[in-house]
Amino acid sequence: MTYSYYIAAGSNIHPRREYINRAVSALTRHGRIAGESPLYRSAAYGVREQAEFLNAVLEWHSDLPPLEALALLKRIEKETGRRESFRWGPREIDLDIIDYNGREWHDEQLTIPHADFENRLFVLYPLRDVAPDYRNRRGQTLTRLIENCSDRGEISLYTPEAYVP
Ligand code: ATP
Ligand code: CA
Ligand code: CA
Repeated sequence: MTYSYYIAAGSNIHPRREYINRAVSALTRHGRIAGESPLYRSAAYGVREQAEFLNAVLEWHSDLPPLEALALLKRIEKETGRRESFRWGPREIDLDIIDYNGREWHDEQLTIPHADFENRLFVLYPLRDVAPDYRNRRGQTLTRLIENCSDRGEISLYTPEAYVP
C-alpha cells in the first residue's frame, strides 16, 4: 500500500533553504515527492522572540505506514543537522506529518491530523498550494480554514529577489 502524506517542513537557522532542500532529497530516497509548495517566510509561532522561519508543505508518497514514517522523519531531521532545543525553539529543520490518506491516528507518539495545524497559517497556505482540494475531517476547505484561522503571525511568499539564506 502506498500512503500519501502532507509533510510540513520548517527552518529558522541559516542556511534555511539548504536544510529544507536536504530534507526533501532525503525524502525522495524513501518515497516520491508528488508536490512541493513554494516557500513562505513566517514569523515564529508560539515562542515569538526568535528568527523568522521558512516553511513549505510537501506531498510525499511512501510505502511506510505512519509510525515508520514518523521515525524516518525524526532520523532525517537528525541527519540534516537538527540539534536539541526547547519546545518551539529555533531549529535547523522540523518535519511534521500534517495529514495522510488514512484513518485518524492518536497515540502517545503521533497524532494525525496534526493537532494544531488549523491554527497555523504557515501550514494552511502552503498546504493549499499543494492540495487545493484538501478538506479536513469535518469537510472544511483550506480557504475556509484560512478565513477562520486565529493566527495573526506575519506570513509572505518567499521571493529569491529578497534572498535571505
Ligand atoms: P508542534 O508539534 O507543536 O509543531 P514541534 O514540531 O516543535 O511542535 P517536536 O519537538 O518536533 O515538536 O516534536 C515533538 C513530538 O511530537 C515528536 O517527538 C513526535 O513524537 C510528536 N508528534 C505527534 N504528532 C506528530 C505529527 N503529526 N508529526 C510529527 N510529530 C508528531
Ligand atoms: Ca512543528
Ligand atoms: Ca516536529
